[in-house]
Amino acid sequence: MDSFSESYAEARGKFLAAALDAGAHLHSHGRDDLKGSAGEPLACDVAILGPENAPRAALAITGTHGIEGFTGSAVLHRWLASRRGGAQRDDVKIVLVHAINPWAFSHKTRTTENNVDLNRNFIRDNVGYQRENPAYDALAPFLHIDPSDARRSLAAYRAYKRYLDQHGWHLENEMLEGQYHHPDGLFYAGKEPEWSNRLFRRILAEHLAQASTVGFVDWHTGVGSFGEVVYLITGDKGSPDYTTAARWWNCEEDKTSAFKSGATPKYRGLLSQAIRQELPNARVAGGVVEFGTADEYSIMRGDCLDRWARFEGRNDPNVARFQDAYKDIMCPPDLSWRRMVLDEGPAIMDKLIAGVASW
Ligand SMILES: [Zn+2]
Repeated sequence: MDSFSESYAEARGKFLAAALDAGAHLHSHGRDDLKGSAGEPLACDVAILGPENAPRAALAITGTHGIEGFTGSAVLHRWLASRRGGAQRDDVKIVLVHAINPWAFSHKTRTTENNVDLNRNFIRDNVGYQRENPAYDALAPFLHIDPSDARRSLAAYRAYKRYLDQHGWHLENEMLEGQYHHPDGLFYAGKEPEWSNRLFRRILAEHLAQASTVGFVDWHTGVGSFGEVVYLITGDKGSPDYTTAARWWNCEEDKTSAFKSGATPKYRGLLSQAIRQELPNARVAGGVVEFGTADEYSIMRGDCLDRWARFEGRNDPNVARFQDAYKDIMCPPDLSWRRMVLDEGPAIMDKLIAGVASW
């Protein structure tokens, strides 16, 4: 069966069926206050495999950025299908979090129902949502555009590049790190913990409190070239945790950065930072794994399309077609790309679990 889906509801159905076939225990966290884009119920589903009280655990998260859940869900589905009816490990508890941001997954958008970028919302101890981001303020005129005509997208992108060539590409990284003053903008960190943030902390407390060793992967798309796998490992380069995860995935080599400034942005409020906050007594290693989908211009055009579809363009009669265009940028229909994801993704899961078992 094809592991990729066309809708959140289809992806959810496949995940639940594959998890049951693999012998998983399921916990569903419904969003009773909101509906999906087709009126369907929304939930974040957690599948547990292996011994409940194992001191070692592997955690996989999908849909932190809703639209990217289409790919993460396909990876989990393919990985679970390979486990169908098979024996489970007796030394590692496996926790699979499907659609931590279900509203955004269903509505084919990056951010939560409040336009909050969930991966900027995990501010430490939930305080400090008030920082300035002058780089974002400076770049906003190139981002808050109407991209419903390709000529406007191209003109905005060229002006954006000229601005950064003049003022420095480090501003792009600073823009990406999160902003607090444009609720209708990109990379908006929000004002308080989102539903998905509170739920993720609860999932950690309920299912991982027993673990003293935790390895994790948060599945994303959009960073890197089409067909490339980019590992954004959590922690400082050279630290024991960083080195551990890099060894699991054999990505210790210092590759050319996927970011044009040459450095990885210093993101604040990442979901992965909550794992250490909530499990202070565990040793934790892992990271975001990105499948690259397109060139920089296409990604920026997609982000602008997504933003516009949520605000100025929301009543446009063709808004659904623009949302589909965004989905195709973030989860390409190209068969060669999907084959790569379904080969690499489950293998990365297996390396994570083997790594946790032998750490
Ligand atoms: Zn992402």
